[in-house]
Amino acid sequence: MRAFISVDLEGLPYVTSPLHLRPGTPLYDEAREIATEVVNIAAEVLYSNGFDEITVADSHGPMVNVIPSKLPEYVELVRGYPRPISMVSGVEGSDVALFLGYHAKSGTGRASFDHTYSSATIDWIKVNGVEVSEFLLNAYVLGKKGIPVVLVAGDRVLLEGDVKVHAPWAVRVPLKDSISRYSSKSPSMAQVRARLTAGITEASIKFSEGEMKSLTTEEPVNVEIRFLGSHMADTAELLPFAERLDGKRVAFQVETVEDAYRVIQLLSVAAYGTSSLVG
Ligand SMILES: [Zn+2]
Repeated sequence: MRAFISVDLEGLPYVTSPLHLRPGTPLYDEAREIATEVVNIAAEVLYSNGFDEITVADSHGPMVNVIPSKLPEYVELVRGYPRPISMVSGVEGSDVALFLGYHAKSGTGRASFDHTYSSATIDWIKVNGVEVSEFLLNAYVLGKKGIPVVLVAGDRVLLEGDVKVHAPWAVRVPLKDSISRYSSKSPSMAQVRARLTAGITEASIKFSEGEMKSLTTEEPVNVEIRFLGSHMADTAELLPFAERLDGKRVAFQVETVEDAYRVIQLLSVAAYGTSSLVG
């Protein structure tokens, strides 16, 4: 069996400061070590539960965070950006998916680094009227492929919100309790290992007993995005099928949820580009 892991940084234990999040910042190496250790724990436990092939999608920022030399031989690594379905690229052929280090959507209070895909451009995203987190949109894309998200590990406020509401079958493993956007309380790494071991074992059993489900949304898909600036919506409006709703909002309809994901990425990058161009 093949398991797919998508790993973000903001929902990982001890990752609390913007200084953790970008290559070149002073705490970035610490965050890389944490990400690699958490991925390795999950991979070991998956392997011992019968998942002999594991694909890890490095899914934060430039997506080169996990340290390849420290991975076991049965793990393959998807690195780098851009890529077609961003945080879930490389999922094809997997039986199950796990999300590690995931965080709450933009606008969530007392949530580590609350944002939705891009804290530089996006205020919120609605898919078929539902405001999505990265967890939810990624799960919709996998759901269309028939791949269930069996476990989410990350900020407790995400787990108790979107994960519990939309995918109650998925095992939830809290890695941090957020105190504010830039502060959180996390258990020891030994406890993280214990929680992930118990969680992945439970998820494997539930999967083998047919209790896991694919999360889907209706197609064609209606998307609405509110940007952080009106110049970003000005840019998004250049897309012929985008409709301008007001200063910061655009809406569009596409045939599939995967296309929605692609257009959201494109508009976010375009919005970022406009900000860079105009200074
Ligand atoms: Zn991230």
